[in-house]
Formats: sequence, C-alpha cells, structure tokens
Amino acid sequence: MPSALEIAKSFHKTPALVRHRVRCGRPTCRCATGEAHGPYWFLRWREGSVQRRRYVRHADLAALRAVVERRRQDDAEARLAVALATVNLRRLRAWLRDLDPTA
Ligand SMILES: [Zn+2]
Repeated sequence: MPSALEIAKSFHKTPALVRHRVRCGRPTCRCATGEAHGPYWFLRWREGSVQRRRYVRHADLAALRAVVERRRQDDAEARLAVALATVNLRRLRAWLRDLDPTA
C-alpha cells in the first residue's frame, strides 16, 4: 500500500490535505457521546465516485504540505497555460478567417 507521501506525489490529481476529528467506534469511548478524537490530518482524494483518505503522521505533515502546495501551484500554472493557449488559438482562427472569408 503506497504511503500518503507517495500518493500525494503520484496520484494523477492533486489530493487535498484536510484535518478533522474522528470517532473510533468503541461504544464505551468518550468520543461516543462527547468530543471526537483529534483533529488529525488526512490526505483526501477521489477515485471515481469513491472518496478515499489516508491518515497523515505528524512527522510526515511538513513534507506532505510541501508536495501538495507545489502540485497546486503546478496545477494553477497548467490551467493558466491552457487558458492562454485557448486565447491564442481563438485569435489564430479569427486571423485565418480574415485571410480567407470562405473558410
Ligand atoms: Zn473514541
């Protein structure tokens, strides 16, 4: 089973780093009636319609943050590149239409 760090680095979409409290399920635990455990950090991603998450050890948190943040920046740059390419393509098409109005 790949580690949270491996998933953060290699999953085709950038996973999210989220933090929430959990209930352990033991009926006698204080979390059954009171406040849940944590909060703990998890890596969360979606595989098709299935939401998955992996616990993030505190020792791995800084490395995971760095990987996720880097990927989010890369994603934003990629979206910008696509947007610019789309604009350029539109301009090119308009320019071609102007050259040959029958096209
Ligand atoms: Zn509990």
